[in-house]
Amino acid sequence: MAHIAENFEHIKKTIPADVKLVAVSKTKSAEEIMELYNCGHRIFGESKAQELVPKYEELPKDIKWHMIGHLQSNKVKYIAPFVSLIHSVDSFKLLKTVNKEAKKNHRTIDCLLQMHIAEEDTKFGLDMQEVCEILESKEYAQMQNIRITGLMCMATFTEDTEQIKREFRQLHGFFGTIKEKYFSQDPDFRERSMGMSDDYTIAIAEGSTMVRVGSLLFGKRDYTK
Ligand SMILES: *Cc1c(COP(=O)(O)O)cnc(C)c1O
Repeated sequence: MAHIAENFEHIKKTIPADVKLVAVSKTKSAEEIMELYNCGHRIFGESKAQELVPKYEELPKDIKWHMIGHLQSNKVKYIAPFVSLIHSVDSFKLLKTVNKEAKKNHRTIDCLLQMHIAEEDTKFGLDMQEVCEILESKEYAQMQNIRITGLMCMATFTEDTEQIKREFRQLHGFFGTIKEKYFSQDPDFRERSMGMSDDYTIAIAEGSTMVRVGSLLFGKRDYTK
C-alpha cells in the first residue's frame, strides 16, 4: 500500500485551513479509503455512480461523499439518498433530475455548476450564458430540493502552468460575476472547486476553496484491475 497517511500529513500542510480537501478515491479499495479515514479524514470524491454506491454501502456512514465526475441523469437516483455534494452539474437537465430525485428522498442536495474553462474542448461544462439561462429561469426559481453552493472546473491537461493559472483565474472571475448577479444575499454560494494533484497549489493561489486530490494521496491509479 502506498504511504497514504504520510502523503496526507504532507499535503495537509500545503493546504490553508479554509480550503477543503476532497480525497479522490476512484479505483481505490475500501482498505485504502479506511487508511485515510483513520487519519480523521471524512470527505471523499468518486467519479462514477456505480463505484460510489457500493463504497457508500460498505464504508462508515459519517463519510461525506462527493460526486466529482460526469453524471448521467439516469444514474442520479442511485446516489440521491446519500450524496453530500455534486460537483459536476453540467446541464440544466441534470440539475432538474437532481432536484426531482432529492425531493423523492426528502433531501436538499448541494450542487456546484461545472463550467467549461479549459481551452481544450473535450471537457464537460457550462458556459457563462448557459449558467445565466439556468439561474434566470422560472423552473430554477421553483426548485426546492437543490442548493447551488458554487462553481467547479477542470483545467486543460497541459504542462503550461501559465495557461492553467489563466483558466483558474477565469473561473474565479466567473464566480465573482455570478455571485454579484444572482447570489449577493446568499452566503451558501461560496465554493470554487478547482485543482487536482498536479495543479492544486496553483488553484489555491487563484482562489480555490476545494481541491480534489487523488493520486498524490493514494498513489497512481491502476485502471487495469
Ligand atoms: C480523478 C479526478 C481528480 C483527481 O485527479 P488526481 O490527478 O489523481 O488528483 C479530480 N477531479 C476530477 C473531476 C477527477 O475525475
